[in-house]
Amino acid sequence: MSDQQQQYSFFGAVEKSFDKAAKFTNLDKGLLEQIKQCNAVYRMHFPVKIGDNIEVIKAYRVQHSHHKLPCKGGIRFAMSVNLDEVMALAALMTYKCAIVNVPFAGAKGGITIDPKKYTPYELEKITRRYTSELIKKNFIGPGIDVPAPDYGTGEREMAWIVDTYASMRPGEIDALGCVTGKPVTQGGVRGRREATGLGVFYGIREVCNMPDVMSKLGMTIGVEGKTVIVQGLGNVGYHAAKFFREGGAKVICLAEHDGAIYNADGLNEEDVFQYKKKTGSIKNYPGAKTIATSNEAIELECDILIPAALENVINGENAPRIKAKMIGEAANGPLTPEADDVFAAKGVLVIPDMYLNAGGVTVSYFEWLKNLSHVRYGRMEKRFTENQNRQMLEQIEESTGKKVSEKDRETIIHGPDEADLVYSGLEETMIAATREIMEVWKANPEIPDMRTAAYVVAIKKVGTSYAELGIFP
Ligand code: NAD
Repeated sequence: MSDQQQQYSFFGAVEKSFDKAAKFTNLDKGLLEQIKQCNAVYRMHFPVKIGDNIEVIKAYRVQHSHHKLPCKGGIRFAMSVNLDEVMALAALMTYKCAIVNVPFAGAKGGITIDPKKYTPYELEKITRRYTSELIKKNFIGPGIDVPAPDYGTGEREMAWIVDTYASMRPGEIDALGCVTGKPVTQGGVRGRREATGLGVFYGIREVCNMPDVMSKLGMTIGVEGKTVIVQGLGNVGYHAAKFFREGGAKVICLAEHDGAIYNADGLNEEDVFQYKKKTGSIKNYPGAKTIATSNEAIELECDILIPAALENVINGENAPRIKAKMIGEAANGPLTPEADDVFAAKGVLVIPDMYLNAGGVTVSYFEWLKNLSHVRYGRMEKRFTENQNRQMLEQIEESTGKKVSEKDRETIIHGPDEADLVYSGLEETMIAATREIMEVWKANPEIPDMRTAAYVVAIKKVGTSYAELGIFP
């Protein structure tokens, strides 16, 4: 590990970005300090029997803010998990929720393990024990704190969490709402799996549709034909690549932890994913050039670079060599503040993580609402809407004497099901957030970059919440 990486504090970087934006808010100093700090930090050690040995597992849950309840934020399984990282990610969650108008406060959790080293049975034991530790300290519950997946966790872990919670809180009618990102059969919502990657696509597409922004960057309007590099082919990266390819962009490079692949004509993420599943790596994928490292890959020429793996991958050292015109932060904290300065000077647009990857928490919110209302989206209105649409179409056909084709009839009549409603709610959320941030930025030319504009939006909203509680002026 280099000195630069050792000294890097992720929470420090978040604080730095916060301070940069705070001066554009005119909020009370005490209030700003309250917003910035982490309200509650829970660091735990617990024993788990792995094979014949007892392993002492280190884990965290941080609730950054309590200005709204419940708190919300993912759980990360990685060796790099430490208190500084969990605090930073919890803080980002507060700002993220505020920007996309999701009525939660930020939290984050993590377990310092390499999940690849454990069998599914061992991971289940660790996850269930972590959940019971959270229950013991009242750090989880549908009205208290609602975890979700993050790096190294997914639907399977969320299913273990909800099962543990429900068995330790028998009779709690809203127990399903204690965690989001669950499998659909366990109270999940359709569309959650792809939500973060899809939100990344909606957010970047909205920016690409802004003529003034694109002309400043010297780029054509729209995502079609744009060249894209995605770092990390996990949940977020895979889906971002998928929606960009489907939207007409060319995903020319996919980078993983052990190397990358490049094809100027574009790659199909699903084929690459299947290849990786079979061989254990994306390297030597047929028809593509293999690039030795992920670091090299992100320095290649492209229109849009999407880091979707981990934090601190683009810093003051490598930022000058990055050739992308636009960077969409799908991961949390992939750029350091030093990298931000380099890109601001170079005129590269950085679309910041705390709103761009908010698709996950937005759809998590929809999942939580579904759990509390105990009814699937679309169940009550789908058929009613279809009957109305059919009647309307028949009236129009009768009065005009023209018949629409069978294919058009199907499209016109179709009533929304759960996935339709989730996608449309997410699209609306991402478009509205992009426009709100851009308006704040345009209204104040002193604001140096889009991240600072996003922080200004977030800080003002959290500040208003506190003011409404009557605690601060
Ligand atoms: P994931 O575990 O599904 O995937 C991460 C992928 O990145 C893995 O395939 C891993 O091998 C790869 N990777 C690791 N180091 C790499 C490197 N140096 N270069 C290239 N690839 C590398 O995780 P995820 O859920 O997709 O999360 C990715 C990022 O997105 C994290 O920063 C996370 O905090 C953020 N995020 C996730 C969600 C979500 O809903 N899952 C929501 C918001 C933000």
